[in-house]
Amino acid sequence: MLLIHCPYCKEKLPELEFEYAGQAHIARPDNPAEQTDAEWRDYLFIRSNVRGDHAEQWRHSHGCGRYFNALRNTVSDKFIATYEIGQACPTSHAEGEENNEQLES
Ligand SMILES: [Zn+2]
Repeated sequence: MLLIHCPYCKEKLPELEFEYAGQAHIARPDNPAEQTDAEWRDYLFIRSNVRGDHAEQWRHSHGCGRYFNALRNTVSDKFIATYEIGQACPTSHAEGEENNEQLES
């Protein structure tokens, strides 16, 4: 069974306690009223479909209930790191690039 580390509970728990919550680090535009329809569409709906390391949001829905970020390899389904909301992604090349580099969590 896949175990996921919750950065708030500070323990690895079964995947069944968690739910995927979409791509991480999507910044809301500073001035939504000034966005074009295409820019707003991109903010709301357009997401990466990365083959490799991908920064994601997860929720510990059957535990503390909090959202956190995770860096997961979409090919191996391995969690490289989990970190609290507001923290920087532990690698600078998580989006849009395939790599096999593993970080310690
Ligand atoms: Zn938790």
